[in-house]
Amino acid sequence: MSESEADVPRVFRPARALPTDVVRPTRAVVDLDSLRHNLHLLRGAAPGVAIWGVVKADAYGHGAKAVARTLERAGIDGLCVALVEEGVELREAGVTAPILVMGGYYGNAYSELVHHRLTVVLQSEGELEALADAVRRSDGAPLEAHLKVDTGMGRLGERRENWDRWAARLRDRPEIIFDGLMTHLATADRPSTGNAPEQLRNFEEATAIFKRHGLVPRARHAENSAALLGDHPHYDLARPGILLYGVSPFSDGELPASEASRALLRRLRPAMSVKSRIVSLRVLDAGDPVGYGSAFRARRRSLIATVPMGYADGLSRALSNNGELLVRGRRAPIAGVVSMDMTMIDVTDIPGAALGDEVTLLGGRAAPDSGEGTHAFEIGATELAARAGTIPWEILTNISRRVPRFYRGA
Ligand SMILES: *Cc1c(COP(=O)(O)O)cnc(C)c1O
Repeated sequence: MSESEADVPRVFRPARALPTDVVRPTRAVVDLDSLRHNLHLLRGAAPGVAIWGVVKADAYGHGAKAVARTLERAGIDGLCVALVEEGVELREAGVTAPILVMGGYYGNAYSELVHHRLTVVLQSEGELEALADAVRRSDGAPLEAHLKVDTGMGRLGERRENWDRWAARLRDRPEIIFDGLMTHLATADRPSTGNAPEQLRNFEEATAIFKRHGLVPRARHAENSAALLGDHPHYDLARPGILLYGVSPFSDGELPASEASRALLRRLRPAMSVKSRIVSLRVLDAGDPVGYGSAFRARRRSLIATVPMGYADGLSRALSNNGELLVRGRRAPIAGVVSMDMTMIDVTDIPGAALGDEVTLLGGRAAPDSGEGTHAFEIGATELAARAGTIPWEILTNISRRVPRFYRGA
């Protein structure tokens, strides 16, 4: 191995089956027009604010390359990922927009960051030196970095007592351009009770400390999706994720204060639906069991359908005897436990249910009189999350790599 190869650590990238490899009828369909529509809504809600779309975790399960390319063509200002690996994947796919690596772990991959012009988020004093070293060992051109301050999330970022010393050391580092000052809010999705106002006050204090050292970042940012719909003044840049995919960050009866923000939520278009087909159908007598543990028993003569989609595809086991799938525009309850590759549903009450029928786990258009937006899903990630006792982010990111993604819209 040559010296320069040793310098650039290998980064492994996620891979998944291609649509052309697909035999099984289980698939996710991602509507790229919906992504563009949602981006447009966010721009309208925050005019003049640079939108850096969050595409970590394979763009919340939607497929990072296709999503990033779509958003880039739609004029998004930048992208955010969690991992160096995710940033490299996008660069190798030809994405040229700025990419912020937020995850806080760079290992020995600083030279990889420099090589791919990925924008690093510095979390601590020591990382200043590591990045400056990597810059000096490359062509020496200064690299942009964002500094993260912990204003009350307690996860990443420099603690308050070190802000002053950190600023002083940044001033002595010509290798690093102070491109951004950022923080992350813990409770933006709970406007009625959260500590976001206190975090934002702390963020102002951090800004003032850097300014005393003559350091003014090109952009300040603190807003995720929920915060972007809050009623505080915006910063220069925002980092929405879940809203871009058409899903509300609010639950449990929480809603943003402003009517404009609530109207935006109603106009979102969920981008990903997940579908399969009935591959087996059987008539059971009253008392007959279904699935592992015989956790379901027919209470009457029943028509039970098998769908080739299980928890290994992202259909949560918490939906056992609990969730519903759509067949012929109607809801069919899950019968028994969700297994790894398959799920059974009770289609007794669905007229005409037949082998080969399409089954929807996520998606289906809501009825026009449902009170939801015209593009709302009949079964949305929010409903699945509530049933499974989790959050929509997890529902989306759990759609696993063995479910091929098909893309609609240019
Ligand atoms: C994931 C993430 C976001 C995006 O969050 P959403 O709630 O999906 O909008 C923004 N900032 C940071 C630091 C994140 O980790």
